[in-house]
Amino acid sequence: MTDPVTVLGTPLQDKAQRLLLLGSGELGREVALEAVRLGLEVVAVDRYDRAPAMALAHRRHVIDMLDGEALRRVVELERPSLIVPEVEAIATDTLVALEAEGWRIIPTARATQLTMNREGIRRLAAEALGLKTSPFRFASTEAEYLEAVAAIGLPCVVKPIMSSSGKGQSTVRQETEVLPAWKYAAEAGRGKSDRVIVEGFVPFDAEITLLTVRAIDGTHFCPPIGHRQESGDYCESWQPCALHPDTLAACQAMAKAVTDALGGWGLFGVELFIAGEADQPQTVYFSEVSPRPHDTGMVTLVSQHQSEFELHVRAIMGLPIGEISLVQPGASAVILAPGQSDHPCYSGLDQALQVPTSKVRLFGKPTAHPHRRMGVALALGDTVEQAKERAIACASAVQVIL
Ligand code: AMP
Repeated sequence: MTDPVTVLGTPLQDKAQRLLLLGSGELGREVALEAVRLGLEVVAVDRYDRAPAMALAHRRHVIDMLDGEALRRVVELERPSLIVPEVEAIATDTLVALEAEGWRIIPTARATQLTMNREGIRRLAAEALGLKTSPFRFASTEAEYLEAVAAIGLPCVVKPIMSSSGKGQSTVRQETEVLPAWKYAAEAGRGKSDRVIVEGFVPFDAEITLLTVRAIDGTHFCPPIGHRQESGDYCESWQPCALHPDTLAACQAMAKAVTDALGGWGLFGVELFIAGEADQPQTVYFSEVSPRPHDTGMVTLVSQHQSEFELHVRAIMGLPIGEISLVQPGASAVILAPGQSDHPCYSGLDQALQVPTSKVRLFGKPTAHPHRRMGVALALGDTVEQAKERAIACASAVQVIL
């Protein structure tokens, strides 16, 4: 269902248009802010209280979003015009049922179901759409896993099918690492699934996120965002990422194919691997897609005229996007917690903000654990290199005190 929101009520009054945010992390917080700016009433949901987006919401609910009955209760209580998933781990079968009853799921219930685990989206991209990906196999038992590793060969990358931020993921380069990778993935997937994907290692030269918006005025692409990952989680991102014009066209064609197949309105983060240098046509591999704003896209808070969050909210409200323009080359660098704490504090902001053009966003998460993302530093530059140096200098001046 893609009816535009044509008449807007006032938040907390009878005719309010309510946006129910399923997942209230740092990306959800920015979505909530843009929604509030456009006059929506925002209800934030997460599995823990005081999640980042709850600070900006009109109301909040704390539930296990994998519990279909709890999810349905919140929907029926709040009666939202837009149900906006911000995380993967949601009872997507319930979203499918709710959509069939007329509730509006962003971008579509099927898209949330296909992208909830790596198998659905990989099969759609590689098998149904014929997009180039790394070679892959799925396995649910140790025997199937050993067979999959033998078929793919080393090096390979092993990931639980239900995981994000690199949890349970390993790169296997030698025989002695094969079984530990299986055990590590199973530990991370516990309670959800033991199933893993074994992917051939792609020796890429760059990895990018191509933010793609499906809106009432067509499909739009943001300039490509380059990023660097460590242990499967993003550390820095920058925009624009230089690509050969033929490569950019190939990336956009892949992003169009996969987002058209998922359907609905909204912003999608299409993750692609690029092999080869930018002075000649490069090889593009599809990796994954998020049917929502992407963490590497936080750079757009400074580098674009409309951030990925504003684009998402506009698209889902059925409003036009118009032109997407880059303000200046920009970069983001993450601020991570060094350990566990129930009362994290921050210092060094005075130093950090002496970096020219820099901004800091602290997410206000109530607890820290090792490597948890607590904030992000943003900066602009005359070049991407300068922006990156500034963002890194700014982020490294902030200390998370446990
Ligand atoms: P993912 O959670 O699938 O996005 O993986 C996290 C990161 O691991 C990616 O952004 C890449 O840096 C790396 N990675 C994942 N799959 C592969 C692969 N098949 N070959 C090489 N690197 C990979």
